[in-house]
Amino acid sequence: MNEERRGPGLDFIRAIVEEDIRTNKWDGRVVTRFPPEPNGYLHIGHAKAISVDFGIAQEYGGVCHLRMDDTNPSTEEEEYVESITEDVRWLGYDWGEHLYYASDYFEQMYAWAVQLIKAEKAYVCDLSADEFRDYRGTVTQPGKESPYRNRSVEENLELFERMRAGEFDDGARTLRAKIDMASPNMLLRDPVMYRILKASHHRSGDKWCIYPTYDWAHGLEDSIEKVTHSLCSLEFEVHRPLYDWFLDQLGVYHPQQIEFARLNLTYTVLSKRKLIALVEEGHVHGWDDPRMPTISGLRRRGFTPESIRDFCRRIGLAKADGVNEVGQLEHCLREDLNKRAPRVMAVLRPLRVVIENYPEDLVEEMDAVNNPEDPGAGTRKVPFSRVLYIEQEDFMEDPPKKFYRLAPGREVRLRYGYFITCKDVVKDDDGNVVELRCTYDPETRGGDNPPDGRKVKATLHWVSAAHALEAEVRLYDHLFTKENPMVLEEGDDWRNYLNPNSLEVLGSCWVEPSLAGAVPGTQYQFERLGYFCVDPVSTPDRLVFNRTVTLRDTWARIQKQHRSK
Ligand code: ATP
Ligand code: MG
Repeated sequence: MNEERRGPGLDFIRAIVEEDIRTNKWDGRVVTRFPPEPNGYLHIGHAKAISVDFGIAQEYGGVCHLRMDDTNPSTEEEEYVESITEDVRWLGYDWGEHLYYASDYFEQMYAWAVQLIKAEKAYVCDLSADEFRDYRGTVTQPGKESPYRNRSVEENLELFERMRAGEFDDGARTLRAKIDMASPNMLLRDPVMYRILKASHHRSGDKWCIYPTYDWAHGLEDSIEKVTHSLCSLEFEVHRPLYDWFLDQLGVYHPQQIEFARLNLTYTVLSKRKLIALVEEGHVHGWDDPRMPTISGLRRRGFTPESIRDFCRRIGLAKADGVNEVGQLEHCLREDLNKRAPRVMAVLRPLRVVIENYPEDLVEEMDAVNNPEDPGAGTRKVPFSRVLYIEQEDFMEDPPKKFYRLAPGREVRLRYGYFITCKDVVKDDDGNVVELRCTYDPETRGGDNPPDGRKVKATLHWVSAAHALEAEVRLYDHLFTKENPMVLEEGDDWRNYLNPNSLEVLGSCWVEPSLAGAVPGTQYQFERLGYFCVDPVSTPDRLVFNRTVTLRDTWARIQKQHRSK
């Protein structure tokens, strides 16, 4: 059985699936589907749906279809189809031969619509969009029946055929289901099944000028594919009566729709409309900007598929919507990267250190451990020489009490290097510290304690100035300053909470020479600084890294405090 099988116990969907298998409800079959509309890039919320749809199929020996729900030509594009397949595959899921397109079913859907017209369950309506709204009523008031509701079957068939033939303008007519204009569920008030839309479709071209609505199409797609469990997020709960109604009226194969809570994440937005706005209004640099909650953004940032799957497993499946903490997602990432990311040394904001008693032309190759969590990862050589860079923030001229790092007269350890003592401070004309003059103790090679047992309180990372490679490093913070930018006061705009400091670019950082030729997409731990990933634009001449996440795990700390209470 799959190790990712269960979070904290059997959730309600798996309980249903197991019961169905026990009672042989679907002849033992488990068929699910992930049905994205190709009108945007997938995000972390979709990752949850994907892990549910594909995960459950996998665990119970079933199959999961990847279906492009491409019923709206005006917003859909091939680019999105490509990104969706790439992202699902990257997350580690496989649909085998089961890649489907709703647009391939348009002919069958049309035939079923004709069947409903013949059964007097559907009619062509000439109300304009405004009139349609007036007739629909409100949550508290029933709607009014359309004056076109009782057209004859013959007239409906003729008009519907002419709609398809392109004889009418966009929006001039619709095909509607004849259900109940007084239903307390507004969605059942004679919902639209087809609208006229003279737009080219990314697959069917200009073959069609009428397009099915989600509610009409979705159950039919599931039925055609003989899906058993149609799993979707909670906003579709109110649509379920309609899903059932269409399939019942047609008398065709009828899957069971089951809803689960949507994923919401703190400090971000997850609706496609808002994500599109972020890209189109230039608040971020594209769909795969490392600040985006898209799968492609997370990938570029340095997230691993394993960490995202682990997160989806841990948050579990509930029936009520909630908000999950981005800190928990980052915690899963740190756990994963801690095991696999090689450690290296890099200096983001360099401060020059000259070791006065170290020979001018000497270079020593120091042994450094690649990953203390993984003994098999071995060691590497790091060059040490007379001129080094350390981090500016590791030195203070006038240190407060608890600052144990470098200061005038103070001794610290350079990791894998030597103990050094700061003797003098060199400043520029403006009084900024630009260089430290230090001495080293030859008895502390490798960073070992000296024979006299002398101790230091701090260990710093460093690089050799003559050997280090210059790099650009991009630091990220949350895209929003507000914990839940989706919940706003009336009249407020989510854009007001965009974090102006979500990106900081450091143009001249230095990394140890072992990173020459670092391959885009590879993660490293820069000692003491966090996990970093090589950006796709990185070249051997110009290394570019994204900070994936810092080393500070606030989620783990909060969990620990929580447990000890
Ligand atoms: P929108 O943001 O406009 O509502 P969407 O993300 O729901 O769009 P789809 O492409 O239709 O767009 O979603 C595909 C599937 O992913 C659906 O079955 C939906 O239930 C699921 N899904 C979408 N967002 C989330 C989310 N935040 N959490 C869990 N599942 C989601
Ligand atoms: Mg949706």
